[in-house]
Amino acid sequence: MSVLVTRLILAMLIFPISVGLWVAMMSAFFYSHDPTIITSTLTWFVEYTFIATYWLFLWRKTVRWTPERVKLTWLVTGASIFCGAIASAFIETARLAPPGLGTLAGGAVVPILWVFGTVLAWKETSEERLERLKTYGTDAVCCPTCGYNMTGLREARCPECGGQFTIDELLTAQHEREQELEQS
Ligand SMILES: [Zn+2]
Repeated sequence: MSVLVTRLILAMLIFPISVGLWVAMMSAFFYSHDPTIITSTLTWFVEYTFIATYWLFLWRKTVRWTPERVKLTWLVTGASIFCGAIASAFIETARLAPPGLGTLAGGAVVPILWVFGTVLAWKETSEERLERLKTYGTDAVCCPTCGYNMTGLREARCPECGGQFTIDELLTAQHEREQELEQS
């Protein structure tokens, strides 16, 4: 299995694993003693730390960490927490759900928004892509999947993302890159 496929499978698993972790923590608290504000806050704290660590470790090497992107990541983090707090406050005060359920729903909003926000914030912009293509030039052989410079490698397998290619696939990718650079 290539590194990229592994990453994608792990990325898809983040939500079921997180829900499982949360249910396990909540039931542990529920059976030991009544869930209090401290235990539920602790549950969310562990849950958020887990999700953030998991997601960062999964993608940090593929993200280009410019100062703007770091700032944007903090902004996404703050905005997600803010939206979650607003959602729980709204559901609780408007009594849209039984007491406590609003806090639960709002709490779940935070990681969902955060994960989607980071996907957008960490995505390579078209300017960055073009810049990357320019630095490599048209002499370089780059991985069609992740853009890693594969020049000088003895096999058509990308060490960065694990993608395997045929020689003609690499040539086609190089030709497309040439055209893209000519158009810019
Ligand atoms: Zn690659």
